Amino acid sequence: MNMVDIIEKKKNEEILNDKEIAYFIENYTNEKVPDYQVSALLMAIVLNGMNIEETTSLTNHMLHSGDLIDLSSIDGIKVDKHSTGGVGDKVSLILAPLLASAGVSVAKMSGRGLGHTGGTLDKLAAIPNFKVDLDVTSFIKQVNDIKVSIIGQSANLVPADKKLYALRDVTGTVQSIPLIASSIMSKKLACGADAILLDVKVGEGAFMKTLTDAQQLAQVMVDIGKKLNRDVKAVITDMNQPLGHAIGNGLEVVEAIATLKGEGPEDLQEICLSLGAIMLVQANKVNNTIEAYEMLKEKIKDGSALEKFKELVRAQGGDVSYIENPAKFKKAKYKIDIIADKKGYLNKINALAIGHLALELGAGRHDKDDEIDYEAGLYIYKQLGASIDKGAVIASLYTNKDREEVFKEMFNEAITIEKTKQKLENTIKDIIK
Ligand code: URA
Repeated sequence: MNMVDIIEKKKNEEILNDKEIAYFIENYTNEKVPDYQVSALLMAIVLNGMNIEETTSLTNHMLHSGDLIDLSSIDGIKVDKHSTGGVGDKVSLILAPLLASAGVSVAKMSGRGLGHTGGTLDKLAAIPNFKVDLDVTSFIKQVNDIKVSIIGQSANLVPADKKLYALRDVTGTVQSIPLIASSIMSKKLACGADAILLDVKVGEGAFMKTLTDAQQLAQVMVDIGKKLNRDVKAVITDMNQPLGHAIGNGLEVVEAIATLKGEGPEDLQEICLSLGAIMLVQANKVNNTIEAYEMLKEKIKDGSALEKFKELVRAQGGDVSYIENPAKFKKAKYKIDIIADKKGYLNKINALAIGHLALELGAGRHDKDDEIDYEAGLYIYKQLGASIDKGAVIASLYTNKDREEVFKEMFNEAITIEKTKQKLENTIKDIIK
C-alpha cells in the first residue's frame, strides 16, 4: 500500500477501505507521510466526499491516534456536550452545573478558543484562581465527589487531528462535512463520555451558514456515534445573532450566573433547558424531555444549580466570592455606549461581525499564544426584533484599548435598524436523533 495509490483512488471518486484510511492516519501521525501528499488527499476528499463508512473509519483511526480518556471508574452514564462554536455561547458554563445538580455525572474536557471570544476554558479562567489543568485522576475523583468537573484537553488527545487541522487551515480544506465531522467526533469520543449532545450552530455567525448544511453535518456526526456505539444526538440552533446579551469572557460568566439564578436572557435559558432536557433523558434520569425540562427549571428555581456552580468553582480553586457577588468582576477601563441614531426595529445583528469586534476589544485571540483580556467584551441590551427609539443605548462596549471611534464604527456596521419588523427565527431549529 502507498499514499499515491490512495490519493489516486479518492481522486477517481472511489471508496477508500478501512486499511487504506488506517495507513494514511497512522503514517501521517508518525510523520512517515509528508504534508504535500496529505494535502492532495484532503483536497480529493473535499471535492469527492466520503460515505458514512469511510467517515466513521477516519474518525475511528483519528480517535485511536493518541490518549483515550477512561471514565469507567465513574458510576452511571457520563454525558458530554459540544458546540460547533457561536458568539456569546456560554451554554456549557450553565449546563454542566445544572445537569450535575440533577444528579448527572458531567466530566467535561474543553478546548481553548481561537478567534472571536474565548472557549469555555477561557471563560472559566476569568474567575480568579480557577484551575483548568487538573490531571485525569483528580478530574475523575472530582466527578465522583461532586458530579462535575471541566478541564482542558490532555495534550496528547487525537494528535492526528492537531496535524490535520493545521494543514487544512493552510490548504483550503477546512470546509468539508466528512473532515469536520471526523475532526469533532474523534475529539469528543476520545474524551470517553457515554452520551454526547452536539449543538450545531447555523447562521451568519456559525461554521454552517445554511440549515441544510447544518442538518447534514449533524446527521453524519449522529451516524458516526451510532456506528461506534455511543449515544449521540444533535440540536441545530440559531446563530444569526449572539446568544444572550453578553459577549466576552468575564461578562459571559456574569450572565451565566444570572441564568443559573433564573434571571438570564430568555434565548439563553431556553437553549440551556432544552439541551439539558435531552441530556437528562440520555443519562436515563427521566423518561421524557417534558419531565426533564420541568425538573431542570426546578433546579434553577430552588437554587441548587447555582449552588452546584459554586461547588465546581470551589473544587477547582476558584474564588467563590465572585460567584456570590458578580459585581466583583473587574470592568475594563473604557465603557463606550452605542446610541441609536434613528428609530425603528433592530432587524440585523451580524454575529460574525460582533465576534470580530469582541476580538478587537481584547476578548479573543488572533494567534493561539495571544493573551486574552477577561475584562473586554460587549453587552448588547437589545435583541433581534426589538423596537428602538432614537437616542436609546443599544449596547456598551468594554475595552482597555483607546480606539473608541473604530469600535463604534465596527458595531454600527454590524447592525441594521429598519422601519418594518422582520420575521424572527426560532432559537432551536431541529433535533437530529
Ligand atoms: N471544529 C473542529 O474541531 N474541527 C473542524 O474541522 C471544524 C470545527
